[in-house]
Order: sequence, then C-alpha cells, then structure tokens
Amino acid sequence: MSAAEEIAALIRAIPDYPKPGIMFRDITTLLQDPRGLKLSVDGIAEAFKDDHIDLVAGIEARGFILGGAVAHELGKGFVAIRKKGKLPSVTLSQEYALEYGVDSVEVDVDACKPGQRVLVIDDLIATGGTAEASLGLVRRLGGVVVGAGFVVDLPELGGAQRLRDAGVNVQSLVT
Ligand code: IMP
Repeated sequence: MSAAEEIAALIRAIPDYPKPGIMFRDITTLLQDPRGLKLSVDGIAEAFKDDHIDLVAGIEARGFILGGAVAHELGKGFVAIRKKGKLPSVTLSQEYALEYGVDSVEVDVDACKPGQRVLVIDDLIATGGTAEASLGLVRRLGGVVVGAGFVVDLPELGGAQRLRDAGVNVQSLVT
C-alpha cells in the first residue's frame, strides 16, 4: 500500500455531519494512529522541505496539530491562525464567505515579519475559503506564502485548483 492509500484508509467518513447531505471526512482516526500521524506529518514536511520556510502557520483547530508537528520536523516556529475572537493581543482579521453568511480568521499583528517565508497548513481543503483568507492574512503581514499543505483535498469543491490558479503551491496527501 502507498502512503496515500494508508492515510486514506485511516480517515473516517461520517455521513450527514454537520448537516444532512454532507459527508464529513474525519481525520481523528488518522491522528490517533501512530503510523498515520507520522505519514501525514512527514508527507507534508517532505513536500516543502526545500522551500526555505521561516514559519509554519496552522489553521485552527486540526491545522494546529499537523502544523505544529510539521514546524517541529522542519525546525521552524509556529504561528496560530485562529477563529474569530480567540487571540488576546492586537490582531488582523480576514473575512471569508460561507454557504450562508461569513466567518473570519485572525492572526497576531506581529506573527510574522515582512519577507518571512510562511507555509500554511490545515487538515483539509474544500472550497478553499478558509485557506484563502489565511493566506490573505499572511500576505497582509508582509509574509511570503511559500505554499499550502493539507492531508485531504476534496477536489470537487474546487478550492485547491482555485489557489493553484492564483499561483499558490498547493500540496495534499490524499484526494
Ligand atoms: P473550506 O474553507 O471550504 O476549504 O473548508 C475547509 C475548512 O473546513 C478546514 O478548516 C476544514 O478543517 C473544515 N472542513 C470542511 N469540510 C471538512 C470535512 O469534510 N472534514 C474535516 N474538515 C472539514
């Protein structure tokens, strides 16, 4: 079995979550498995190891687990991209569209210095709205987006392709 096949086999599909008609891809079972966690972290780190990264940014919440481990593996620092209202200091905020309404992500204003090279990590990319807003925050801080790494891409939702069309190096381990 390839690494991608092993990872895919450890991801659980939960029907009708968070609402009817949605098939939720749950990586809890992957993270819980020692080999699954290692394959996931190693796979993302390997894809960006030659890209001269200064910082790894993880998107709340599962992006913290993977991003923290990738940062450790690459020997870099970690930046938290958080949901609205969680950071205690001075923040930048970026809104993004949901199916109904808007949400936003936030980062500390001093999370990165102009010119620093930042890799953004989350567990999964679907429509790409969360990732796109997160990349926007990095850029507004003056950071250089080196790429975006995910365990799972749901290609039918088009997010990864949209980011690639905009010139972002998007890597995912399974589709
Ligand atoms: P997007 O903004 O539509 O790309 O959705 C991606 C964000 O929503 C990520 O932060 C994911 O953690 C979360 N997400 C959306 N769909 C799923 C899913 O099926 N499984 C796990 N997370 C999901």
